[in-house]
Amino acid sequence: MRHADSVCTFNMYNSKLVEALESLTSRIENAEERPGQVGMALAVDSSIANGEHLVVEAGTGTGKTLAYLLPYALAGKTLVVATYTKALQDQMLGSDLPRLKEYIEAKEKRSFKFVQLKGWSNYLCNERVDAAKKPTGVQQSFFSENDRSELDQIIEWSKSTPTGDRSDLPFSIKEATWNSLSVTSKECFGKEKCPFYESCFAFKSRKESAKADVLVTNHSLYAIDLSIGGHIIGAHDHVVIDEAHEMEASFTMAWSVHLNAGRFEWLASQAKRVIARKHSDAVAKINELATTMTKNMNNHKEQWVYSGNAAAILETLELAEGRVETLNRLVALSSSDERTKLRITNAGESLLEDIRVARRFLTDFQPLSQIAWIEPNRISKPELHIVPLNVSENLEEFLWSKKQAVLTSATIQKNLLKRLRVPLGEEKPTVIDSPFNYKKQSLLYCPDIPDPSKENSAWQEAVITEIENLILLAGGRTLCLLSSNSELHRITAEMRKRLKVPILMQGEKSPKKLLSDFSEEEKSCLFGTRTFFQGVDVPGPSLSMVILNRIPFPGPNEFLVKAWSQKADVETGNFGWREVELPLGVTRVVQAAGRLIRKKDDLGVVAILDPRMTRADYAEQFSSALPNMPMTDNIDDVEVFLHTNL
Ligand code: SF4
Repeated sequence: MRHADSVCTFNMYNSKLVEALESLTSRIENAEERPGQVGMALAVDSSIANGEHLVVEAGTGTGKTLAYLLPYALAGKTLVVATYTKALQDQMLGSDLPRLKEYIEAKEKRSFKFVQLKGWSNYLCNERVDAAKKPTGVQQSFFSENDRSELDQIIEWSKSTPTGDRSDLPFSIKEATWNSLSVTSKECFGKEKCPFYESCFAFKSRKESAKADVLVTNHSLYAIDLSIGGHIIGAHDHVVIDEAHEMEASFTMAWSVHLNAGRFEWLASQAKRVIARKHSDAVAKINELATTMTKNMNNHKEQWVYSGNAAAILETLELAEGRVETLNRLVALSSSDERTKLRITNAGESLLEDIRVARRFLTDFQPLSQIAWIEPNRISKPELHIVPLNVSENLEEFLWSKKQAVLTSATIQKNLLKRLRVPLGEEKPTVIDSPFNYKKQSLLYCPDIPDPSKENSAWQEAVITEIENLILLAGGRTLCLLSSNSELHRITAEMRKRLKVPILMQGEKSPKKLLSDFSEEEKSCLFGTRTFFQGVDVPGPSLSMVILNRIPFPGPNEFLVKAWSQKADVETGNFGWREVELPLGVTRVVQAAGRLIRKKDDLGVVAILDPRMTRADYAEQFSSALPNMPMTDNIDDVEVFLHTNL
């Protein structure tokens, strides 16, 4: 183990911690030796004792989860763990945390509790359930578009579920049905105003979390909680941000404003049910806004928004502010019941706040401070995002100055810590090498084919031939990671024509189901895009080959990254691409390659079908960031490696 550019020394050796770690890991079936895990645990332990922040880049297989959970547990500290992927949370909640609980309760003779914290709308809202039971009058119309049998099923389930957590639902339902029976935190009436507060599932989960030793959540919820003064997660002094390479983007998006026509339409449809008919014009005006908003955003197309190019959008927002205020007033004055009025006005207030942020952005444009763009949302409707360009001040105010934090990931991109202004003082990030023997266990194949940035169609043809040959050599068993949805569809269709092995494709089933099918059917292949760059943990021969069709540099529609890059251009004299986009490309390649070797007896090939890996003047940045894999450009070497080892 080493600090980056320095030798690692610990100011504390905690024998109790080392023994506890040995004892805990010895109970794991097929446990493997993980020398870096002890080093990481000691580094975390020192950082707790000194109240300092710590950054650990821990290679695949370190066992980093236990290496940070155990020191906090032994020190009796309440810890929040924020991850980027749900897969990592599931893994922690299903294995390391139960094991740790058993150990602490047996050895330390005290209770040890862990909980998972989710966003408000993951829980059933009892106020909504009550309204849905026997809807009459206005309430009836709220549920008129829902499937009655699904509503009844959930109402029945609400009587027995101890959690009200959507993931515990024993049957599947439509998204719209769940949405009608849950609320966001902004729509919630809160303790003072809700008659169902005592039995509220969301509040119950918060109360439970107050007693927990470890709270597991995601980056977004953690970022929101920090910015609202800890009202969701509650008091804590220590946090581990795992998958920290995604932290900047996920915290930025959590601290942003997102506006789409759907929010106006929802408000209009709800208000229509409560306000007097004579005011129906106010509702019509909101619907009209939604139509204009969509039209303006579609005209604007997927691109940047700033004061000089968005006059039509600004005009709509100016109209919107007054109209939403009027509608909210009419709802508040209506004769409907207080609960209904509160729900609608809460949503109206939240929309108003966001409209004001968007207006301010467009009238008082501060370059390099905030940025905005339009892109389609999950349901392919245009959405306006107004996003802070630099979150380091917020992080200083909410996080670095108030908590003791550990940031960790298998790869932390160059410059990230500087950009987030992590106050490490003289300390450097601690680097833990992977325990795997990549020299023996793997091979890196980078063929000499046309350059995608110069001869795209020749490269595309070469990629098809390479993928076909590689899958034939591996006998299936391939995770093929493609750079775009169009490439995914094109290449999957072609391979299904050419090959006999089963090919699973992202989007055809849930990611969880695809991964379990891929893992169980040894000769199958899984084709996907960025979704599968991380969170795929398939040890054994089912995953013997990882193919990347090209280096996943940020694309033109990755607006946030492009804005960071442009800002860095200004600050560094046109080195933005090298400062921001190149390190991200490197991180993504390392993440993808990390899917291959998950255990000490795993073997396989990483094939990167992009000759810039070896020819570009920045190629060295990739080779130095990747594990120490022997490299070849000769497919015969791949054949020999696979036939010798598989
Ligand atoms: S407190 Fe909020 S989430 Fe809970 S039942 Fe009431 S309105 Fe629903």
